[in-house]
Amino acid sequence: MKELILHIPEWFILLSAFIWGLVWGSFFNVCIYRIPRKESIIYPPSHCPVCGHRLKWYDNIPLVSYILLKGKCRYCGAKISMRYPIVEFVTGIISILIALKSETVPEFFIYFFFFGCLLVISAIDWDTYTIPDELSLPLLGVGLILLFLHLLKTSPIQGIAGALIGGGIPLLISFVYEKVKKIDYPALGGGDIKILTATGVFLGLYGILFTLIIGSFLGIVIGYPLTIKTGKRVEEEELQEVRYIPFGPFIAGGAFLTYLIGVDKLVHLLLF
Ligand SMILES: [Zn+2]
Repeated sequence: MKELILHIPEWFILLSAFIWGLVWGSFFNVCIYRIPRKESIIYPPSHCPVCGHRLKWYDNIPLVSYILLKGKCRYCGAKISMRYPIVEFVTGIISILIALKSETVPEFFIYFFFFGCLLVISAIDWDTYTIPDELSLPLLGVGLILLFLHLLKTSPIQGIAGALIGGGIPLLISFVYEKVKKIDYPALGGGDIKILTATGVFLGLYGILFTLIIGSFLGIVIGYPLTIKTGKRVEEEELQEVRYIPFGPFIAGGAFLTYLIGVDKLVHLLLF
């Protein structure tokens, strides 16, 4: 954010970005827990999932409360999942990285919104093997509005091409795979296709191509070995075993690396 750095010291901007990320990370935890359970993300206020006791503001300070309470509920002593401080900390780091990368303040808020949504989607996909339409469709809609308001880093033509390729390539792979393997379940989930379409809008044509390459690479190198231990197994009629990988986290990882490194640098890396 060069325009701001002229007036405000950089450490202050990055510290503010970190705290901003922690606070949103705390809200993302609520979304990750409640959206798959079809609960409101606003009401009721934060409470312990075990004893139901309402949390005071000082029990709910991102990162700090978890450390002070030593990972236990103040009222019933139930263990609090490590997931909560991890999501808060990761959101803080993502916020700092986007602040370092952004050239303007609106750019920071727009891409923080985009990658924040991808983080929530990834965690829900990891837990439930589903990407809720309540998140993927509004993300796509907001992306299209920002695109035509010229608020994204990519031009409207690039963004539309990115959306068509982001949705089109996985649809084609899924279709061919189903024909070749003669299976009647989708090789790629509909939710994956929707968030790839949205990612195409936010990152443009070249951005989505690198997202697909890096995301698939991460999926094969990290995701596939994980499914051997933890993957959901689906027994088919002929005792053929199928393992699902939640692809959302790898799409998100691919998109974030593409955004941070930048398409220009990635092309140079490919061509040496
Ligand atoms: Zn409790």
